[in-house]
Amino acid sequence: MPLLIVGSIGIDTIHTEHGSAPNVLGGSASYASVAAGFFDRVHLVGIVGGDFPKQHMDLYKKKNVDLTGLEMISNGATFRWTGKYHPNFATRDTLEIHLNVFETFRPKIPAQYRKTPYVLLANIDPELQLMVLDQIEKPRFVAADTMDLWLNIKLEKVKEMLRRIDLIVMNDEEAEQFTGEKNLIRAGKKLLSCGPKFAAIKKGANGAALFSKEGIFQVPAYPLETVVDPTGAGDCFIGGLMGYLASSGKKSFNDLKKGVVYGTAMASYAVEDFSLQNLVKLKKTGVTKRFAEIRKMTGF
Ligand code: AMP
Repeated sequence: MPLLIVGSIGIDTIHTEHGSAPNVLGGSASYASVAAGFFDRVHLVGIVGGDFPKQHMDLYKKKNVDLTGLEMISNGATFRWTGKYHPNFATRDTLEIHLNVFETFRPKIPAQYRKTPYVLLANIDPELQLMVLDQIEKPRFVAADTMDLWLNIKLEKVKEMLRRIDLIVMNDEEAEQFTGEKNLIRAGKKLLSCGPKFAAIKKGANGAALFSKEGIFQVPAYPLETVVDPTGAGDCFIGGLMGYLASSGKKSFNDLKKGVVYGTAMASYAVEDFSLQNLVKLKKTGVTKRFAEIRKMTGF
């Protein structure tokens, strides 16, 4: 079943201890869509300016992403973000952010996308995420991501959004900030009490935890000796998870567990090179291979 993804599309400049990547494809929806496209057809809704390179459009198309919902403002500039990671990769500084066409973005879901059964609200302003929820009809399963910025400046909108979705994804710092709980288990349970049936907390190199009324599922990160660029790891995690769910047509705790492992595999490939470069080269057999390796690694 197809998956609708709404989020940011940007041109990033990234600095890590492995070097710099100027003007590369980025944005929460770019990472999530390309990751999800390994599993099923993606309906992407986002906005770009006239400066958005054609080669990026071609990449989306090649990766199973339908662009009917991509708005292009020919006299505007694409969203731009510049970030620099600290040597341990756990933290980063935003050096520059230019919203550009995002300043006036009001997501419009094309009529033929409104009944898409699976929906992913990738990281964007929660007010825009709510606008998407107002336009979609009877979705089977809705997931959302967010970031510290929105918890700082639009907390009430994040709370409103949480009451209307099935799965919320946050990293451990965001979950602590949102719930006031330092303990991951308490934080996960508190997230569930805010509305969604499921909550996933990402712990970077320490893996991820999935919470539901039925229990908790924890998975380690795929063991990598070298991380080149962690940008978009979280977006690939949720893209992989939702791509798998959409392809299965299911939504139980057991299905989400498998989704978390697929998400972990997608994130591990993403961080091995700058931007989406490693996902461009990746084949579905690679995804299946890492899924099997994680299953073997965690079985006893
Ligand atoms: P992540 O590493 O998962 O936080 O995702 C990184 C991506 O988020 C980059 O490609 C950026 O273009 C994008 N990004 C950075 N700041 C924002 C923002 N305020 N809203 C939406 N997307 C953003």
